[in-house]
Amino acid sequence: MIPFSPPRIDDRTIKAVEEALRSGWITTGPRTKEFEKRLAAYCGVDKVIALNSWTNACELVLRWFGVGPGDEVIVPAYTYCATANIVMHVGAKPVLVDVLDDFTMDPLAVKRVLTNRTKAIIPVDIGGLPANIKAIMRVAEEGCNLFTPKVNLRVDGSNPQMRLGRALVISDGAHSFGASIGGKKVGAQADITGFSFHAVKNLTTAEGGALALNLPEPFQHEELYRYFNTMSLHGQSKDALAKNQPGAWRYDVAFPGWKCNMTDIQAAIGLVELDRFDSDTTPRRKTICERYDAAFAGDGRFTTPTFRTGDRESCYHLYMLRIPKASEEQRDAIITAIAKRDVSVNVHFIPLPKLSFYEGQGYRMADHPNTYKLYSTEISLPVYYDLTDAQVDQVTAAVKAAVNEVMG
Ligand SMILES: *Cc1c(COP(=O)(O)O)cnc(C)c1O
Repeated sequence: MIPFSPPRIDDRTIKAVEEALRSGWITTGPRTKEFEKRLAAYCGVDKVIALNSWTNACELVLRWFGVGPGDEVIVPAYTYCATANIVMHVGAKPVLVDVLDDFTMDPLAVKRVLTNRTKAIIPVDIGGLPANIKAIMRVAEEGCNLFTPKVNLRVDGSNPQMRLGRALVISDGAHSFGASIGGKKVGAQADITGFSFHAVKNLTTAEGGALALNLPEPFQHEELYRYFNTMSLHGQSKDALAKNQPGAWRYDVAFPGWKCNMTDIQAAIGLVELDRFDSDTTPRRKTICERYDAAFAGDGRFTTPTFRTGDRESCYHLYMLRIPKASEEQRDAIITAIAKRDVSVNVHFIPLPKLSFYEGQGYRMADHPNTYKLYSTEISLPVYYDLTDAQVDQVTAAVKAAVNEVMG
C-alpha cells in the first residue's frame, strides 16, 4: 500500500529528538528560540513565534486583535474547518466567499462582502499556492473607511484595531511554508501569516505552528512577540526558562491567557526539517509533482494543479489533480477504485457548507459554485520525500486505470 503522506523521519531526526530529551530541558527553551530565529530569517520577517498548532496560533491573533461577538471574518468556503472554527471560538461570524479556479480566495468576492463589521480576512494558500495576498491587502486598505474599530478594547489601553485602522489580513499558510510571492517567501506579505507544522504538512514538528509577524508601522514586532508569548503562557510575566534562573521564581499574571507554547522536542524536529527544506525536501516534492504533470498534462481527462501563476509560486505541498468531467459520485467511485489498487489518495477539502455544523448555521453550498465544482472533481495524490519515482508511476497507473473503470 502506498501511503498518502508519511512524515520524513530518519536517523538525523531521531538523534536531534534524543539530544533534546537528554538535554534536561524539554519544554519551550533554547531549541524553540533558535527555531523561531531561523524561521524569521527564512521568511524575511523581524519576528516569528512558534506555538503548538496553526489553530491555537491564529486563534490568539483573533483574540489579540479583539475580534468577538458582532464581528465578521471573511474566509473562503474552500478550506479546512480550522480556518472558520477559530472564528466561531471567539464568537464572531465567518463570512464565506468563493474561490478562483486555482483554488485561492477571489479578491473581488472579498470586496463584495466587506462591511463595517469586518474585522479580519483569512485567505488560504491551498495546496501550497499562495493566494493573491497583494490584491487582498489592497481590498483591506481600500476598505479602511468602512472599518469601525472597537473603543476601550483592552484594560491596558492598547488597541490594535485603532492602530491598524482596517481589517487585519491573516494568511492561512498552513500549506505554504516555503512558497513565494514576487520572489519573497510567504510570511512577508500579509499582516500576520500562520503556519502549520502538523505531521502531514510539508515541514513538520509532529504538531506545531507559527506566526510570522509583518504588521506595518507603528507596530513594534519585538513588543508584539512578547505579547503573543505571554498570551500563549497564561498571561504569565515570565516563561519557564526565565523562572528557572536562580532566585527568579516570582511572576505576575496580567490577564487570563491561553496555553499553546511549542516544546523543545518539537523544535528539535523542526530545526532538522528546516535545515534540509530548500536543499533537499522541496526539490524532491517538486520533482514528484513534475513527474505527475508529465503523466497527466497531455491527457484531456485531467486538469493538473497550478504551481505558478503571476508572481506566485507554490511550495509543492499537495498535488491536487482534477477530473473535470466527473460528478461527485464518480469522483468518490474513482477513489475507491484507486484504493483497490493499493494507493492512498485524499480530497482537499470538504467545503465548509458541506460540513453538518456549518450547514446547520445556514451556509449553503449553492452560494459557492466554483468551490463545489473544484471540490467535487478533486483528488490529491501522494507527495512526500520518500516516495520513489517507481511509486509515482504506480500511482499514475492506478489513477488512470480507476478513471477508465469508472468513467468508461
Ligand atoms: C492543517 C490546516 C490547518 C490547521 O493546522 P493545525 O496546525 O493542525 O492547527 C489550518 N488550515 C489549513 C488549510 C490546514 O490544512
